[in-house]
Amino acid sequence: MTVQIDHALEEIRRFRPSPEFAAQAIADERLYDAASADRLGFWADQARDLLTWQKPFTEVLDWSNPPFARWFADGELNVAVNCLDRHVEAGLGDRVAIYWEGEPGDSRAITYAELTEEVKRAANALTDLGIRTGDRVAIYLPMIPEAVVSMLAVARIGAIHSVVFGGFSADSLASRIDDAEASLVITADGGYRKGRVFPLKPVVDEALAKAEGGTVKNVLVVKRGENDIAWNEGRDLWWHDTVTTASPEHEAQAFDAENPLFILYTSGTTGKPKGILHTSGGYLTQVAFTHKNVFDLHPERDVYWCTADVGWITGHSYVVYGPLANGATQVLYEGTPDTPHPGRWWELVEKYGVTILYTAPTAIRSFMKLGRSVVHNFNLRSLRLLGSVGEPINPEAWIWYRHVIGGGSIPVVDTWWQTETGAIMISALPGITDLKPGSAQVPVPGISVDILADDGTPVEGEDGGLLVITEPWPSMLRGIWGDPERFRETYWEKFGDKYFAGDGARRDEDGDIWLLGRVDDVMNVSGHRLSTAEIESSLVAHEITAEAAVVGASDETTGQAVVAFVILKERHAHDLDPSDASEELRRHVAMQIGAIARPRQVFIVNELPKTRSGKIMRRLLRDLAEGRQVGDTTTLADTAIMDIISAQVR
Ligand code: ATP
Ligand code: MG
Repeated sequence: MTVQIDHALEEIRRFRPSPEFAAQAIADERLYDAASADRLGFWADQARDLLTWQKPFTEVLDWSNPPFARWFADGELNVAVNCLDRHVEAGLGDRVAIYWEGEPGDSRAITYAELTEEVKRAANALTDLGIRTGDRVAIYLPMIPEAVVSMLAVARIGAIHSVVFGGFSADSLASRIDDAEASLVITADGGYRKGRVFPLKPVVDEALAKAEGGTVKNVLVVKRGENDIAWNEGRDLWWHDTVTTASPEHEAQAFDAENPLFILYTSGTTGKPKGILHTSGGYLTQVAFTHKNVFDLHPERDVYWCTADVGWITGHSYVVYGPLANGATQVLYEGTPDTPHPGRWWELVEKYGVTILYTAPTAIRSFMKLGRSVVHNFNLRSLRLLGSVGEPINPEAWIWYRHVIGGGSIPVVDTWWQTETGAIMISALPGITDLKPGSAQVPVPGISVDILADDGTPVEGEDGGLLVITEPWPSMLRGIWGDPERFRETYWEKFGDKYFAGDGARRDEDGDIWLLGRVDDVMNVSGHRLSTAEIESSLVAHEITAEAAVVGASDETTGQAVVAFVILKERHAHDLDPSDASEELRRHVAMQIGAIARPRQVFIVNELPKTRSGKIMRRLLRDLAEGRQVGDTTTLADTAIMDIISAQVR
């Protein structure tokens, strides 16, 4: 049987770039021509133009041992020097690298010169602690400047960081420390979240008591929360005693382009997280290239803000490495979007004059739920480009983002990529592409993708199939840490030399790509494979809906039936009877998409289960819809949520 995902949702709105935007756009149509004429030559040019190499490379791609790619392998560079020193040497030392804002309202502006000096001190301190090239350092920090400093200091000495999101439990941290055999943990006493200090160092203590490897020799602690913590003399060190007192002179060594840069565990939406390994030269090339062209970055005048935590790939590539390699000025915010008030993000956009904002659909939908009045108290006219990442963005959320946040006329780029791809793979280029709400659109120049049926044959027309990447790309993962077999099995076994992404997709008549959801989530109703993303988008297009998740639950007559979980917008949640709302939504989907997609049930709920990075975990909802014991919830942001939803569903 071949996989083919039926699609039916017609989304016909189109937005041409404005002439003013196009006239100043960084991206150029010729990038596509150059990449299609000579793909490897194109990437070699990008690597030379965007980065500074201590030893130039002569070979571009070595694909002699697939699926293990080597890019620019005989070249040498230092990643931290590319993000810092070279900007200072170019006379940009006084440019602000980071406008940092703490949740309680404290703030710091850090220039490139200051950031460089701090990273040099940290690099010396790490070396004094015995960290050498190839050693693993776990970083478990809140969104404070020291998180960026730590990552760059590790990179500067050729060691490997493994950043673990500060919301993870002691168990999750322990398993990541053990898996990577980390010898140092960098943490803080605590950080601010939702108006309170949340402890971090106590979680590290608990994790180290649990970690079986016993590999950690030291714990370096930043003072942030001022909360009481236990102290392990000899093992624990304060940042301000260790880093702040270290020498600010540090000569950076050049490392091979294929020197490992970091391990990062995926968000665990579908199951057990994988330790994704990325290396240096190719990774930095593609993140710098996409950051510049997809976000139309004018580093001399833009103020960029990516709201992702550094614990996710988006934080690695588009808070740390891409923006700093490009000499950007950016905002870094410690806290939650709604503390101390629901308009906090918009207050920060106004305060810093943010011009480029990059965030996730889950955040956009949560603001839609609250209504536009929260946004309208602030002046957002500085914004000139908006980006989205993490999940398919429903057309209605896209339109809301463009109109309510963007004022109605600025580009919105929907960027498809993964922890594994390292950098953006599919996206519009602003100023060039006619935008279509809900579609991630086209591969970026130099990237080749295709949509295949289960048997590997290309899917024709607008039918959906499986998204694959057909050629190696510079920022591709180099493996799963310590598990080459799982690497082959997960991504390469299915189609041989083509990378299997695990997402369903279709291509429309203009060649634009629409993501249909994860292959594991695709529903099979009476022999039709239906896309979760399309039915969810249809639900969100109804004016009463804020957010929706759709799953296929086993059904005696149809094989699977569509079951939807819907959160209503705040202003409708009180005055609508849930059973009327649910009937209305079933009717709406049947009318918009067709009778085949009509949900068997629509449950009105207050919450949806999400990972800590904000993605909907449909597999748990499927368990619920099928009346099963709910499966592994360890990667859920809030483990109590499933109980609340279960109670509402019954
Ligand atoms: P795990 O692989 O552990 O289950 P995960 O896939 O959520 O977790 P990430 O690497 O953070 O981990 O997420 C990548 C996935 O997010 C993609 O495969 C895709 O399903 C989804 N995604 C990201 N951006 C987009 C986008 N713009 N449109 C549609 N889907 C997106
Ligand atoms: Mg994934």
